[in-house]
Amino acid sequence: MNIHEYQAKALLRDYGAPVSDGRVVMKAEEAKTKASELDGPLWVVKAQIHAGGRGKGHFKEESAGEKGGVRLAKSVEEAAEEAKKMLGRTLVTHQTGPAGKQVNRIYIEAGSGIETELYLALLVDRQTSRVSFVCSTEGGMDIEEVAASTPEKILSFSVDPATGYQPFHGRRIAFALGLEGPQVKQCVSLMGTLYKVFTERDMEMLEINPLIVTDGGDLKVLDAKFGFDGNALYRQPDIANLRDETEEDSKELEASKYDLNYIALDGEIGCMVNGAGLAMATMDIIKLYGAEPANFLDVGGGATKEKVTEAFKIITSDKNVKGILVNIFGGIMRCDVIAEGVIAAVKEVGLEVPLVVRLEGTNVDKGKEIIANSGLNVIAADDLKDGAQKIVKAVKG
Ligand code: GDP
Ligand code: MN
Repeated sequence: MNIHEYQAKALLRDYGAPVSDGRVVMKAEEAKTKASELDGPLWVVKAQIHAGGRGKGHFKEESAGEKGGVRLAKSVEEAAEEAKKMLGRTLVTHQTGPAGKQVNRIYIEAGSGIETELYLALLVDRQTSRVSFVCSTEGGMDIEEVAASTPEKILSFSVDPATGYQPFHGRRIAFALGLEGPQVKQCVSLMGTLYKVFTERDMEMLEINPLIVTDGGDLKVLDAKFGFDGNALYRQPDIANLRDETEEDSKELEASKYDLNYIALDGEIGCMVNGAGLAMATMDIIKLYGAEPANFLDVGGGATKEKVTEAFKIITSDKNVKGILVNIFGGIMRCDVIAEGVIAAVKEVGLEVPLVVRLEGTNVDKGKEIIANSGLNVIAADDLKDGAQKIVKAVKG
């Protein structure tokens, strides 16, 4: 689960990390009052969406010469104006995809004077099974370009979980970032704080880009992107409360309510499968025969008819879906339950695209019989290969 920049900064502030003072604005009328609570001479007005690259992004239907999703203002009035201009509009960045994201919240921050922009991240490195710090002297809006063309400028340091964070980690990072004098001490302290928040709050990803040296020579967190482990949210209720459902895929949100493992993808073939391995294999074979999956969906082992019905409804609600492949290997999951769920869903929402059903395993005969007697226009398939070929043919002709 991701949170907004202003929420991440509030969390950092609680842990004692250096961040600027700021106010979140939800309604245009509040903008001026909120901005006037901050000291000038510079204000930064920042669109809050769960995607990076805002500074270099652009708004849909933008007027000539308009700036991106991060704007500098020289007065309270100007800051309020910029906030009003951005609220409610759609911001497109290289991370949002062409559809962009609607901006419903603005963060106004007391502006900082910048000496240098650095890059810093913490992540769970699956290769070493450790938490790693990743850093670079080349922070700012071109970090992707740095990673692509000069990867040697990005360094990483892993932390042994047996010792946890130690000051020498911070000194190494400070050295790698070219910090000097009192900045080294600030870095040792800030890295300790970041490691603490990362581990205590069950985070998966923490990115600060840029981490800056201010014109006064101090370290400061200028941007913050945090991702949390969804499986640990039950023990982080205050983090779970920060969830902004408007930022999430509505189909994925619906699926999570029914405990379905669902990920929306860009293709045209909707898949309903049981078991993560079979779901992966189904996606692969759809690609093999020349089409793209519209989703990953594992209905799970002991799914009920209701759960299957919901899963089917989520698939059909996706406008990109031009055909559906139901691929079930009945083990704990019974084929007749799947068949009943599919039929119940079709009765409720209708079926406007071709449907291929491949059932195998427990109660397969009963399942096939239910489908055959349903009067539905279903294409039956014998095995995975047959099913994939049939659905691709039905969709692509
Ligand atoms: P992102 O584009 O979504 O990553 O948004 P950031 O919060 O990283 O802001 C983009 C850029 O705006 C930064 O790299 C800075 O160059 C600039 N910026 C952000 N805040 C300030 C500020 O307080 N003062 C100044 N001078 N520039 C800022
Ligand atoms: Mn940034």
